Amino acid sequence: MLQQTQVKTVIPYFKKFTKKYKTLESLSKANETQILKMWEGLGYYRRARNLLASAKLLVKEYNSKFPNTLKEIKKLPGVGDYTANALMGFIHNYPTIAIDGNVKRVFARYLNKKESKINYEKLIDINKKNLFITERNSDFVEALMEFGALICKPKDPKCSQCCLNKSCRYLKSSNKIETNKRKKIKVMNYNIFCYVSKKKQIALTKENEIKFLKNFNLPLIKEMKNNSINKDWKFLKNYKNSISNLNLNINLYYKFSNKIPKSYNWYSLNNNKEFIPSFTKRIFNQVSTLF
Ligand code: SF4
Repeated sequence: MLQQTQVKTVIPYFKKFTKKYKTLESLSKANETQILKMWEGLGYYRRARNLLASAKLLVKEYNSKFPNTLKEIKKLPGVGDYTANALMGFIHNYPTIAIDGNVKRVFARYLNKKESKINYEKLIDINKKNLFITERNSDFVEALMEFGALICKPKDPKCSQCCLNKSCRYLKSSNKIETNKRKKIKVMNYNIFCYVSKKKQIALTKENEIKFLKNFNLPLIKEMKNNSINKDWKFLKNYKNSISNLNLNINLYYKFSNKIPKSYNWYSLNNNKEFIPSFTKRIFNQVSTLF
């Protein structure tokens, strides 16, 4: 849950989730719709799907025991180097470092060397005798990430409070490296066309051609080729929606109709037991203003 998401956002989701799924077995018996419903609003839904698939695999293939090698852990869906190392440290107290953006920045600043010029695996391997000096490896993995998030922060690092400030090259250098990279934001324009019924329903389909919205239930969505208004549908409003590093400029249209194309199903605009991602919920809110 914490990947790409802030702790304060995650806390209520985590509490609810762990209350419902107390064991690996109970999680493995859930279905995807149930898990997605609990994840609703948290975004990056692939994480939820991978978590469920991993739970099923662990119960079925590993007798509910968590593997203890990086190679085996990386066989779990969605688990790459970073997560595998974090899990090896957290679960098995293995001496390792999970290299995320925070950790990369700490090393880069300490050496005053651009991240792209550092071979992190090699660096850690060469310095392992100096790095892994505690038996609390599990805490060390977490502490290093927290150090990057709270002390050696992306903006305004707290150098005066830092335990590394006597030897940090970044602090001493008159030619400091650039570490505050801005995310490149891409603007994309879409037309969204909604079939709406008088019973306060909206028709959604999984058949859309938009790559980052694959597998989501959505109204008809098409890339906007020019800024002209579509005359076959009624224009409702224009609004912006951000997803990750995308800034979406949306023209929303609607049409009251009882007939819908085959691949569509009706969904209530108010009470939904189904999983509705935030992007779709936003559309619901706009369309609800028609009633
Ligand atoms: S002294 Fe400043 S720049 Fe250097 S590691 Fe500490 S917080 Fe980061």
